[in-house]
Amino acid sequence: MQFLLENRDAIRNEPCGLCGQLMSAPAGVQLLLSGSSAPVCPDCGRKHAPSLAALAHLAEAAMRIGRIHRHSVFPPLTALLDLANAAEKYAQATQSLSDCGL
Ligand SMILES: [Zn+2]
Repeated sequence: MQFLLENRDAIRNEPCGLCGQLMSAPAGVQLLLSGSSAPVCPDCGRKHAPSLAALAHLAEAAMRIGRIHRHSVFPPLTALLDLANAAEKYAQATQSLSDCGL
């Protein structure tokens, strides 16, 4: 299975390309199945492409902070913690890949 990240500009309600669960994907960076362009739900993403799923989550958190930052100088602490948390998960996901020798 191959995956790709795509920046989509609209909300889509589609079934996950792997498990068939209906998902509402917000606009932004999304994990897709290469070839069919079907979206991949967070659960399947974590299972089959952990580093890409973590990267998509990190991009989503960063975009949310960017939007908030446009309207106020100091984003709320919870948004900053979300971003830090997403960054840590991405670092862990890529670390476990390098542990496997990939
Ligand atoms: Zn799924």
